[in-house]
Amino acid sequence: MRAEEQGEWSPADPNEVGLREAVRRAMYDASYPQAIDGVGCLLLDADCALRYAAASDTAAETLEVAEEVCVEGPCHEAFAGEEVTYADVQGENRWERLSALLATSPIRTVIGVPVLLDGRSIGALNAYAALPHAWERADFDGLHRAADAVAVLIGRALDDRLDDRGDELTAQLRGAVANRDRVRRAADVVMDSTGLPRPIALLRLRQLAAASDQSTVAVAEQVITGEGLPSASLLAAQAEAIREARQETARLAITDPLTGVANRALFLDHLAQALARAKRTGRHPAVVFLDLDRFKTINDSLGHAAGDEVLRTIAVRLEEQVRAQDTVARLGGDEFAVLYDAPSRPEVIEHLAKRLADAVARPIELSIPVAGANPEQTHQVAVQASLGIAIAEWEERREPAEILRDADMAMYDAKTSGGNRMRTFSDQVREAGHRVMNIELALRSTLLGSDAPSRGDGEAAPEGLRLVYQPIVELGTGRIDSLEALVRWSHPDLGDVGAQELVTAAENAGLITRLGDVLLRDACAAASRWRAGPGGDEVIVAVNVSPLQFAESGFVDTVERALGLAGLDASHLCLEMTESQMLAAGGTTLDTLHALHELGVRLTIDDFGTGYSSLSYLAELPLDRIKLDRTFVAGLTPGSRGDSVARAVIGLGRSLELETVAEGIETDQQARYVIDLDCQLAQGYLYGQPVEAEQVPELLRAGPLRTNVTPVV
Ligand code: C2E
Ligand code: MG
Ligand code: MG
Repeated sequence: MRAEEQGEWSPADPNEVGLREAVRRAMYDASYPQAIDGVGCLLLDADCALRYAAASDTAAETLEVAEEVCVEGPCHEAFAGEEVTYADVQGENRWERLSALLATSPIRTVIGVPVLLDGRSIGALNAYAALPHAWERADFDGLHRAADAVAVLIGRALDDRLDDRGDELTAQLRGAVANRDRVRRAADVVMDSTGLPRPIALLRLRQLAAASDQSTVAVAEQVITGEGLPSASLLAAQAEAIREARQETARLAITDPLTGVANRALFLDHLAQALARAKRTGRHPAVVFLDLDRFKTINDSLGHAAGDEVLRTIAVRLEEQVRAQDTVARLGGDEFAVLYDAPSRPEVIEHLAKRLADAVARPIELSIPVAGANPEQTHQVAVQASLGIAIAEWEERREPAEILRDADMAMYDAKTSGGNRMRTFSDQVREAGHRVMNIELALRSTLLGSDAPSRGDGEAAPEGLRLVYQPIVELGTGRIDSLEALVRWSHPDLGDVGAQELVTAAENAGLITRLGDVLLRDACAAASRWRAGPGGDEVIVAVNVSPLQFAESGFVDTVERALGLAGLDASHLCLEMTESQMLAAGGTTLDTLHALHELGVRLTIDDFGTGYSSLSYLAELPLDRIKLDRTFVAGLTPGSRGDSVARAVIGLGRSLELETVAEGIETDQQARYVIDLDCQLAQGYLYGQPVEAEQVPELLRAGPLRTNVTPVV
C-alpha cells in the first residue's frame, strides 16, 4: 500500500494535532469496562512506513518505538486491517527482533485495532495490560472507539489542510467533530445528574443508544434537550451497577476468593493502620494466627470440595467471633489470622483466642457428598487448630509482617507441642523456633551426614537416637500384652529431644521415612530378641507410623523387609496410626492397610477421639485396636465429656469387635473407671514408664504388672 493511496496524509507533529492528548484520552475511553494499562499509536507516513505517533506512558511508548524500529509487532498486524490479540507477549517468539525487546517490558496482554479514516487504514492503536490474559474479544469495542477518536483528530488536522478543497472527506470529518461535541455536551449533562466520571458518562450514552437502537448522537440530542432526561434515572441505576462492579473488582483483589474474608495483603494493611493508631492510643493490636491441624488428611480422604467447605465454614465461624473493627483473613491453605484492633490485656486476647479455637473445633456438618462415601449419609468432620498469638508493642516500631511472623512462630510452637493448643509469642517461643530449626539440622546431619553415610539394612539407629518401650497391659490380669516403641534422642548439643519434637522436625525436614525405617527395623529386632527370652513368646511390639511414612509407596515392602531382617512373625508387630491418617483410607491408603493386614500385621488407631468422626469409614478398615486418647482419660469423671467419649469409643470398639486400649492411665481411679466401662487394655504411668530395650526382658520375666486395681467381677 502506497502513501498516495491513503490520501495526502503525512505525519503531522503529534503535539500539533493534539494526538498525544487524544491517545491518553483514548486510553480512558477504551478502559471501560476492562482496565487498560496503556495505549500507543503508530501512524503511516508519506513513505508508507508506520511511525511512532503517541503513547499514554513510557511502557507503551517503548513498545511503539520498538515496533517502529523492528518493523514488526501487533501494530503492524493491526494496521493490515485485523484485530489482533496477544494473551501474553512475553514468551511470544514469532517476532524476530521485537520479542527480545519485549522481554524487558512490563507489558503482557496486547490487543490492537486499525485506525480507519474514511474506511482506510492509516495506522494502528495498541492497548496493553500488565497482566497476561487480561482481555477477551468483547474488550475490543473500547479500543475501536479510541481508534475512531484518533481518526477524527487526524481527520481534523487533514481537514484544516484540505479546507480549501471542500473535499467530501472534510465535510464528513466536520460532521464527526460536531457530533462529538454534541455527545460531549450530553456527557456533561449526565455527569451533572449522576456524578459519573466523563469516560463512564460517555460509555453510558453509547450503551443507551445501543439499547434504544438509536445513534449515540440522537441519544445525546435527547439528553441535551431534556427529552431524554427520564433516562437519567436509568443512567443513575446503571451508574450504581458500575460502581458495584468496580467495588467487586476491588474487593476481589483484597479478599480470599474461597471464603470471602480478607487476604494477606488486606490483613497486613489493616494491621499497619492498627499500629499507626496504637501510636496515638497506646493500645496494642493483637494478631492470632490459626493453622488447622492435619487439614491435609481431610482434603486427601474426603476430597477437595469437602476441604473447601470446611474452610468456608471456619471463615464464617471466625467472623462470628469478632467485632466489626477486627479483621479475619485467610492467609492461604489452612492458615487463618485474626487481627484484634486494640484489645486491652494479654488475658483478654487469650480469652478471645480460646473462643476462636472453640468455634473451629465444633463439628462441621458437610452439606456436599463426600468422595467415596454413601451420598445419602451426612458427613461430620471435626477440625482442630493450633493458635499463635502476637501482641504488637508499638514502642518497638514494628513492621506488620514481623508481627504476623511472630504469631506464626508461636503457632508453630503450639503445633510442634502436639497441636490443638495455643501459644503467645515470647522470647521462649523465639528460642523454641530456633530449636526446631537446630533439631532439623542435627537430624539431617545424623541421618544423612558424613558420620552416617549410607545406612544399610540391619544397621542400628545412629548414636543417641533410640527407642524406649512402654508396656500395654491387659486390664484386670496385668499381663503385658505389648510394648509401644517411643522414640528418644539424646543429642550432645540439643539435650533430650522429645518424641513429638523429633517426629515433627523429621516430617518438616522430609526425613520421617528415613527415620521411621530405621526405628521400625530396631523395634522388630528388639522384639525378636525379647521373644527368645522367658515370658516373651507372645509379646507384641507396637510401632508408631507417621502419616507421611505410611503414604510412601513402598511402605508395605519396608515393613516386610524389617520383619524379614529381624526374623519376626508379622503377628508380633502392631502399627499405630492416628485416627485421621486411618480415615484417609481412600484409594491407595486403604489398599496399604489391607496389604498390611494380609501380611498379618496388627493395626491400631492411636489417639482415638481427637480426629474427625466418620464412623462408617471405620467399619470398613481392617483394624485390630483402638486407643482412647489420653486427654479423655485425664478428664474421666461421671457426666464429663471424657466420660461420654470414653463410653462411646469403648462401645464402638465392642460393636466393631476391636480391642480398646485406654492411654495415659495414671491413677487407680482412672484404671477402675475404664475397667468398669469394659475396656480391655491400658497403658500409662500407673503400669510403667517407658523403659530402655535392655530392661524389657526383665519386665517380661517378672510376669504380670500388679496394681491395686482389680476388676469388679
Ligand atoms: P502416642 O503414640 O500416643 O504415645 C503415647 C505418649 O503418651 C508417649 O509420649 C508416652 O510417653 C505418653 N504417655 C504414656 N503414658 C502416659 C501417662 O500415663 N501420662 C501421660 N501424661 N503421658 C503418657 P511420647 O513418647 O512423648 O510420644 C508422643 C507421641 O510422639 C506419640 O504419641 C507418638 O504419636 C509420637 N511418637 C513417639 N515415638 C514415635 C515414633 O517412633 N515414630 C512416630 N512416627 N511417632 C512417634
Ligand atoms: Mg502411639
Ligand atoms: Mg496415643
